[in-house]
Amino acid sequence: MSGKIPATLIPGDGIGPEITAAVTRVLDALGAPFEWDLQQGGMAGIQSAGDPLPGALIDSIRRTKLALKGPLTTPVGGGFRSVNVRLREEFGLYANLRPVKTMVPGGRYEDIDLVLVRENIEGLYVAFEHFIQVGDDPHAVAISSGVNTHAEARRIVRFAFEYALAHGRKKVTVVHKANVLKALTGLFLQAGREIAKEYEGRIAMDDRIVDACAMQLVMNPWQFDVIVTTNLFGDILSDQMSGLVGGLGMAPGANIGEKAAIFEAVHGSAPDIAGKGIANPLALLLAAGLMLKHVERDDLASKLRTAIEQTLQVDNVRTADLGGKVSTADFAGAVIKRLA
Ligand code: ATP
Ligand code: MG
Repeated sequence: MSGKIPATLIPGDGIGPEITAAVTRVLDALGAPFEWDLQQGGMAGIQSAGDPLPGALIDSIRRTKLALKGPLTTPVGGGFRSVNVRLREEFGLYANLRPVKTMVPGGRYEDIDLVLVRENIEGLYVAFEHFIQVGDDPHAVAISSGVNTHAEARRIVRFAFEYALAHGRKKVTVVHKANVLKALTGLFLQAGREIAKEYEGRIAMDDRIVDACAMQLVMNPWQFDVIVTTNLFGDILSDQMSGLVGGLGMAPGANIGEKAAIFEAVHGSAPDIAGKGIANPLALLLAAGLMLKHVERDDLASKLRTAIEQTLQVDNVRTADLGGKVSTADFAGAVIKRLA
């Protein structure tokens, strides 16, 4: 059909190279249109270029505006800021879309179909942090300030409502802690109420305090539809929500911005299982599905989803985190068989 689409491929650290290899094999079998530009980042970037975010990687994404990215580890010490945060800032990736959907029946919850929209560049992640020395103790006091802007809060809430409209969703829940962090997250709630008015009669809006929301996600997750929240709350709630559908191995994410879109798994580098060939490649594979939709290849995205569902549900082929026993590579092989 259409021609090749240049895209940056970043295997990353820990289980990254294993799951990336599995995912690109599946995408090849699917006939995905991506023409990969392979780039190293994280610890692998330090090894190859002395920088966790090498210039070549940044240049590549500037050119392609599109990336599939494995987990990147930020070196401890050496004064490096979080690589992921820097990437989000560099490309203005203000929206982090994290859908969770039940694909493996028989877990603790059935029929989960939720979307979390996380504000991706503000809040406590701006990391204005420092210590204050008292007496001999240089770390006697730690201080951190968060930053939320009215404009950015409105933009991310609007993103959530637009997503809801475009995907036939009914409700957006704004999650905050406006009772305590009255300025920082009160502003976010206020923006939520403003934007909601524009969608009245089309998309419903309600709000939750983050602690209550966490409890309700366990008691009755089906009451939610689309959730939009600030950076840190989104980080925590999206890991929690992945637990509703089988864990971190099932949770894809899309970082959407003005200058690029970067697709990734919600999970990190999982150093405890790295190199063992047992990681679940599904989170990154589902992220590749989001990437296919982003380039308007919904046909390929749904073909991929069907093959994954058949592999999990008909063939009962699963990695260890889902109670199965196949390797990362064999899981990919099983999906490829279903695609054939
Ligand atoms: P990082 O510092 O890079 O975030 P982490 O130690 O926080 O690494 P995560 O990658 O966030 O580790 O994973 C948390 C746990 O979930 C790990 O113990 C890991 O085994 C498990 N896990 C994460 N991703 C997967 C996966 N794709 N398949 C199987 N298990 C996974
Ligand atoms: Mg982690």
